Amino acid sequence: MKKIQDYRFLVQLLCLILTAVSFSISFKFTLLLILTLTFFTGVFYCGWICPFGFIQDSFDHIGSAFGIKKRKVPKSLHRILKFSRYLIFLLLLLNLSDFIFTILKFDPRVNFLELISGNTVTIISILVVVFFSLVSVFFQRPFCNYLCVQGAKYGLLSLFRIFTIKRDDEKCIGCKKCERVCPMNIDITNSVNLRDPNCINCFQCISSCPIEKTLTFGKVGLSRPEKINFSKGIVIFSLILSLFIYYSTSKSHASGNDRQTITAEKVGGIASADIAKGIEDGTYNGSSKGYKGTVQVEVRVENEIIKSIDIVSYQDDIVWFNRAKDTVLSEIIKSQNTAVDAVAGATYSSSGIINAVSNALNNRDK
Ligand code: SF4
Ligand code: SF4
Repeated sequence: MKKIQDYRFLVQLLCLILTAVSFSISFKFTLLLILTLTFFTGVFYCGWICPFGFIQDSFDHIGSAFGIKKRKVPKSLHRILKFSRYLIFLLLLLNLSDFIFTILKFDPRVNFLELISGNTVTIISILVVVFFSLVSVFFQRPFCNYLCVQGAKYGLLSLFRIFTIKRDDEKCIGCKKCERVCPMNIDITNSVNLRDPNCINCFQCISSCPIEKTLTFGKVGLSRPEKINFSKGIVIFSLILSLFIYYSTSKSHASGNDRQTITAEKVGGIASADIAKGIEDGTYNGSSKGYKGTVQVEVRVENEIIKSIDIVSYQDDIVWFNRAKDTVLSEIIKSQNTAVDAVAGATYSSSGIINAVSNALNNRDK
């Protein structure tokens, strides 16, 4: 069982490479697979797949190699702090305030993904990645424990999993070695069937347990009333899962009356001609790859000025796209330039829009 940690490290490394490659292919199938796996077996994504999880584990190993002992956040404090990532997720769902997006800008997981996907990142984003990596030398999985919204989503989805870590209470000698190595600071000895949403299925607890077959991973046995409750849970969670999948994978097309246009009149105070200089009056079409598919725009040029930009269609999460669209289009029209900043937390959507406008003006496809 100890070998499993070597296998996990190799799988993490492989997934890091696959993630970098997957930016050029559709990830909907992968997403569906991850969601289903999470629902039935727990948050394997965080323990085995997430590239930034791998980076944190790597720095954890580096620290150990230099003899640095891991510190633990005191249990009493951890029991409060562990809800922070769910709170951030809730605020994000409610789209409450800009501060959430500021936090997301400081999300090393997202920054790291952007880094390996070849997207431009700011020096601050790199510093955030470096900061959390260095903290991992002293504390295990600092970002996952308290700030990761993705981990919070998957954790909630896994609450009713039927495959999980089981503890044989009769064999357990209460040495708590499992809890000492647990990177997520989970009270493993308090339960027999561990369904903690913070568990990342790293199996370090199983590897470290001195009594063979005391901790195992497998299907949990359910009593009849539990089976009935579980069936109800499956129905409810299937509905939530369907909505989640629909939200995450649906193509949202704006067309006809749904078209979204930003005009020079709306923006006000535009700069003098820049990228539209020398371009004759007309409406030009352009497209580019956004977060989950193609963004198509129509750019109207009059007197060498971009007068309006019209989103013809897009394939993206509506919330993120709208957030990017309003700011980015206004900035392009105001500055008469496509060299504008991407919106924090919606970088891919922003890049899609910016590149589509650039392509429209460069290709002059009427
Ligand atoms: S390491 Fe094994 S024996 Fe020790 S407390 Fe954990 S489950 Fe029990
Ligand atoms: S409970 Fe076990 S599998 Fe879950 S995070 Fe802790 S050590 Fe890893």
